[in-house]
Amino acid sequence: MASFSSDSLASDLSPSREERSAHPYLSFARPTLDEDTIAGVVEVLRSGWITTGPQVKKFEAALSDYLGGRPARVLNSATAALEVALQLCGIGPGDEVITPSQTFFAAPNMIAKVGATPVFVDVELISRNLDFDAVERAITSRTKAIMPTHFAGLPVDMDRLYTMAGWHGLRVIEDAALAIGSSWRGRRIGGFGDLTVFSFHPNKNMTAIEGGALVLNDEAEAREVETLRFHGITRLPDGTRDVAFPGGKFNLPDVNARIGLGQLVRLEEFNARRRERVADYFQMLRTDPPCLLPHPGHAGDEAGHSWNMFAPLLPLDRLCIDRQQFRAALEARGIGTGVSYEAAHLTTLFRRRGHCEGELPSTERIARETVTLPLFPTMTRADVERVCNAVVEVLAEARI
Ligand SMILES: *Cc1c(COP(=O)(O)O)cnc(C)c1O
Repeated sequence: MASFSSDSLASDLSPSREERSAHPYLSFARPTLDEDTIAGVVEVLRSGWITTGPQVKKFEAALSDYLGGRPARVLNSATAALEVALQLCGIGPGDEVITPSQTFFAAPNMIAKVGATPVFVDVELISRNLDFDAVERAITSRTKAIMPTHFAGLPVDMDRLYTMAGWHGLRVIEDAALAIGSSWRGRRIGGFGDLTVFSFHPNKNMTAIEGGALVLNDEAEAREVETLRFHGITRLPDGTRDVAFPGGKFNLPDVNARIGLGQLVRLEEFNARRRERVADYFQMLRTDPPCLLPHPGHAGDEAGHSWNMFAPLLPLDRLCIDRQQFRAALEARGIGTGVSYEAAHLTTLFRRRGHCEGELPSTERIARETVTLPLFPTMTRADVERVCNAVVEVLAEARI
């Protein structure tokens, strides 16, 4: 129930969203930070060493352990990790990188930023992962890498991906920003393959406030990443420094690494809660007209889906409201929603390079119809029921 504290002048003047509604506001994502982590951060703040240091080393070791031993290096975002991964592969002007357009802007942006050309390939409507038949057709003599996204934590077909990459001699940079804790046939994403990027933004399955990781093949690559993420600096035997490459400034502070450590030990538990709430959604989200529900996870490997998001497609052609009106109706009921994703090839950046509507039908349909409903580990079944009831009600009222 709404609770006013009588001594809170601010809330008397301007009731918050929570207080206007009978229920607490449900944002579409919410991080879970425990007291042990908060105390750990305070310790780091008092330790005298707050930027990259011992906590980063511990976090990288813990990530590597979690992934079965491959080297991992952390950076201040997944976007930085994508850029550094491209540089590590030597990708630049004249090179092509195959990417979905139905992904977060970071992957296409970083491909363009290093001077290469993103080659946009359509996704499958239900899984929203790359259509590998279309990937095969998009490979040219200039293709250097494939950069697939594991949408919402659902792994792409890893067997097909690596067979194709091996056959054509391509690097793979997996955008696994949404897929920490996901697995393919019992093997963790990031635990095998070529390069894997994770994100620790607050909307992901674990957070470091901001942060990202790059998982590598060997220690030589890891050392190169250490240079690329910090000014391109190498240390000389005489105690001075040298720079051979204009590197970025992408190091993660220890404060953030300590949060990441506190999250990683709880990741399996967080993901189990996410799967429970998703099972509730599949059970209770029965609307008329029906939504197109997300892929339920690969048959027999359902636990390999880490469920960062639950994002159905709205039946807009059977409604008298548009998506914005649908979202406003949920917002009025105290329920937050998101849009993941717009079509990257239709942003101003890539329209200027000649892209336009009609190139990627599934990507563009998803971009028009998708809506992300609330999903986070501390949600209850009753919260999911409340969201489902609201969606059922709004769609029934708007049916044509
Ligand atoms: C969140 C996200 C990113 C970017 O992560 P940052 O850590 O914020 O840079 C990249 N790709 C995908 C698919 C994402 O969801």
